Amino acid sequence: MTGSWPRDRAPWHPASWRRRPAGQPPGWPQDDRLRQARDQLAARPGLVTAQEVATLRRRLADVAWGRGLVIQMGDCAETFAPATPTGIGRTLELFRDVTRTVEERLALPALAVGRIAGQFAKPRSSPTEEIDGLPLPAFRGFLVNDMPPDAIARRPEPRRMLWGYEHAARTLFLLRRAADEGLPLRGHWGDGLPALWTSHEALVLDYEEPLTRWDADADAWVLTSTHLPWTGERTRHPDGAHVRFLAGLSNPVGCKVGPAMTPGEIVRLAGTLDPGRDPGRLVLISRMGADRIEERLPQLVEAVRAAGHAPVWLCDPMHGNTVRAAGGHKTRRMGAVVAETEAFVRSVCRAGGRPGGLHLESTAEDVTECVGGRCGISEKDLPRAYLTACDPRLNADQTKETVERFVDQLKR
Ligand code: PEP
Ligand code: MN
Repeated sequence: MTGSWPRDRAPWHPASWRRRPAGQPPGWPQDDRLRQARDQLAARPGLVTAQEVATLRRRLADVAWGRGLVIQMGDCAETFAPATPTGIGRTLELFRDVTRTVEERLALPALAVGRIAGQFAKPRSSPTEEIDGLPLPAFRGFLVNDMPPDAIARRPEPRRMLWGYEHAARTLFLLRRAADEGLPLRGHWGDGLPALWTSHEALVLDYEEPLTRWDADADAWVLTSTHLPWTGERTRHPDGAHVRFLAGLSNPVGCKVGPAMTPGEIVRLAGTLDPGRDPGRLVLISRMGADRIEERLPQLVEAVRAAGHAPVWLCDPMHGNTVRAAGGHKTRRMGAVVAETEAFVRSVCRAGGRPGGLHLESTAEDVTECVGGRCGISEKDLPRAYLTACDPRLNADQTKETVERFVDQLKR
């Protein structure tokens, strides 16, 4: 029956995305394992609650009005190494340091949002990767397949979604316990709230759909896999499956905004994802590249504002500034990262918007993946501790430096 409805008038349901083209398909095997994994996820308890999601939306609305900033950061791709109290402790310490910088230098509350407890799936620019002259299926993140360069490891395995759920549950358990023990972020202790808000790219919709639940009190559909799902640069088509999926959730939702975005397209996207024009419902994450942002972003900020939305604008200074070092490692230079955050502040302000914060790929571990900054990592240092499962992350010191420079630019 729904098939005869005009496409955009059919009522939303967690499975509505299936009638739209979905980019980045995982390529699951055509046997019973996918259905079994989905059924088992549907029987699992939600990881986050409708109340938490509603609280985050109120806090993001404050940010949209200029009464706070968001610091969103974490791994490009989380691994299936089980979260530990020590590792989570280090992550929280870094969040504490950078949110303190915001609070002390700007006298504004900072929302701490992790790319954590579900950031397991990766979009790829090519479905295959050439290794020793042979094409292999690309690594799509541990939610889908495994990293070693052989055909068996790269086979998509639906049961990975259950493993991902278990890892996310363990991480959230530790984040809730850390908050109960008084660690250490403003507004997050007690009440069973986790010490960080969680976020990830909602890429594998076979994982997200069974974790979407109707909440009778909220009278709304809630995605319980994470507080803040976002859609990536490669899957954000206004008529595509991923945007359709996010549109019906009561969670705040994010969307990456790259250099190919046009004012017409972003207005359509914002209209679909934020039809009620609710401040803080929509988090727009600009990832233009340092040399393009000032020419592209202002008109987009302007167009979204003129259409009546009050989104949170974040700057992702990582994904438009990826380069290959002479030794072959993918890297990012601190010069470009900082330059993009500064140009972001100028661009958003010039268009009459409010800079809402940063979106970083970052780790508290002592890695050598990005170059430059006051810690002085150079290209020849990259092999020493290049540990990422996907894109290069800022280490703790580079993260603090980036946040400090951003905050100082805001003070100007
Ligand atoms: C990411 O955030 O890891 C990512 C893949 O970003 P984008 O979709 O902006 O390329
Ligand atoms: Mn990335």
